[in-house]
Amino acid sequence: MLRSMSFLVLSCFSALVFAKQPIAIVIHGGAGTINKSQLTEAQEQAYHATLKHAVDTGYAVLERGGSSVDAVTEAVLIMENSPLFNAGKGAVYTYDEGHELDASIMRGDNLMAGAASGLTHIKNPVLLARAVMERSEHVMLSGAGAEQFAKEQGLELVDNSYFDTEFRYEALKKAKQSMQKLPHQAQNYRLKAPWQPEWNMGTVGAVAIDRSGLLTAATSTGGMTAKRYGRIGDAPIIGAGNFADNASCAVSATGHGEFFIRYRVASDICARVKYQGISAAKAADQVIQQELAKVGGTGGVILIDHKGQISWSFNTEGMYRAKRTEGGVAVTEIFKDSPSLP
Ligand code: ASP
Repeated sequence: MLRSMSFLVLSCFSALVFAKQPIAIVIHGGAGTINKSQLTEAQEQAYHATLKHAVDTGYAVLERGGSSVDAVTEAVLIMENSPLFNAGKGAVYTYDEGHELDASIMRGDNLMAGAASGLTHIKNPVLLARAVMERSEHVMLSGAGAEQFAKEQGLELVDNSYFDTEFRYEALKKAKQSMQKLPHQAQNYRLKAPWQPEWNMGTVGAVAIDRSGLLTAATSTGGMTAKRYGRIGDAPIIGAGNFADNASCAVSATGHGEFFIRYRVASDICARVKYQGISAAKAADQVIQQELAKVGGTGGVILIDHKGQISWSFNTEGMYRAKRTEGGVAVTEIFKDSPSLP
């Protein structure tokens, strides 16, 4: 009796000590005014299929014992290479009809981070952000210097026209029509109408936790349609569009970047978790549904907390998103109240 009791205690103890962190991954492909009437059945299916492919690819990395850094990189790469999203191929147009891309990545154990902004020739900005984190002394590189570093690191460079897509060009034309000339401002600087979330829809991001408990977040974007003057959004700004801290949570954001920078969205959510002890889901709702919504900041976040719990929050009509947890299948969703597609 005594022997079986001690065996039981010992097995419970070793189960606790050697228990592995359940793996989990969540991704987004941007938030905005997404309603069914804007998407054909074929487009909707294409989004679901690409989200599933990306989340499954990231999950497979975690399942074979890989790190969350590799998992988020692989998931983001698939979305950067798809023309469906505003990141890599399919990035939105600047006012001058080119493309300028931003990306970042952060790991939650040592808070190392890498970011790159204003990129015009880097096929996969997430790879450059990661190279900055792992192979440079810096956190953020921009423009020509960032591209020189990318060349030295052997990353693939492309002509700026590689990022072109017809439907993003149409979005640029519409955005330009909504701009007005203000007397004391640079020409066409301000918008006549309120900012339209579909003009920057499609940023991508991934957050994962691996078996060691390491949280990593990555975000990649073409930014905002018709942006000018070297505008940089929140995606490459650590603490705004991307953040990871094993002591609280990891977050990737999408939305109207100017608000996400001013309200330092990603780090604010994690700080609430860390210092107020509230759940990541509640912290995200406080920031996205209350703080941002009341000032007109549109967008959303995906996150995983230090225990591996996935959540998301957005104040737009939809957010392209997918998740997969230990032993489960991929769940992909687009609209606010849409049924999940396993
Ligand atoms: N947050 C990105 C930016 O402002 C755009 C987006 O998420 O759609 O650059």
